[in-house]
Amino acid sequence: MILAKLTFECFEDTTITAVERAISSLITELKYNGQIIGNEFPCLLKDGHFVTQALCPTEDALSYVNNNKAVNNAISALNDNGILQPKIDILGQEIHSDMSDPDHTPAWQVLYTSFVQTCSPLRCGEHFAPIPLYSQPALANGCYKQLINWQQDWQACDQLQMNGRSAEFEALHEIGDVNSSLAKRGQAIAAKIEENADIPTYYYLYRVGGINLKSEQQRRCPQCDGDWALKESIHQVFDFKCDDCRLVSNLSWDYN
Ligand SMILES: [Zn+2]
Ligand SMILES: [Zn+2]
Repeated sequence: MILAKLTFECFEDTTITAVERAISSLITELKYNGQIIGNEFPCLLKDGHFVTQALCPTEDALSYVNNNKAVNNAISALNDNGILQPKIDILGQEIHSDMSDPDHTPAWQVLYTSFVQTCSPLRCGEHFAPIPLYSQPALANGCYKQLINWQQDWQACDQLQMNGRSAEFEALHEIGDVNSSLAKRGQAIAAKIEENADIPTYYYLYRVGGINLKSEQQRRCPQCDGDWALKESIHQVFDFKCDDCRLVSNLSWDYN
């Protein structure tokens, strides 16, 4: 990921409340279009300018060509509130996050996230690198809001189960069971993305626990009961893949 600085300058008298509201709206739309990543975007008032920093999938993420309609509307709203559109400075590559997928058409892709990840939840099946959402054909409803919300919920469940909190079992059900509401939402989004991009798009089911290694290796596809075990693990994460149901999963982390 690339760290960018956005500087907002006012061109006429306005109020801090109006500026704050207009900048927040733009940040939200950029996030839902995958142009910036994360949840916290502190905004600084310095020398009469408003400054915020954000992680972006690529250096050109904030270019006009990547904007969707909602982002452009939010930029118009900035102008209506006396603010120029932001000046963008690329600060450089952020070292903790993954590099985005190179520009190509993947043979397959997968919805995959975890609570430690700060990147797009759509990954290339070949490189396992995050794919910038704005590089995808626009979804029918105009933005990837549902996908970003799904990612946030998945990460919250993952955090709960990693910390072993009281809701651990409910959280595990959500990220690991094909019949959970989170999985159903994710599968529906994956199907929409597949239809849109014409690229097979899989959904990842988290797996932990189980009785023993042997029974885990013999696990069947939870949707069609077919044989989905892979001869070799893909990206050291996926040990199961059902091409009919578009599902992937790992060998239980307890025996992996
Ligand atoms: Zn790739
Ligand atoms: Zn299946």
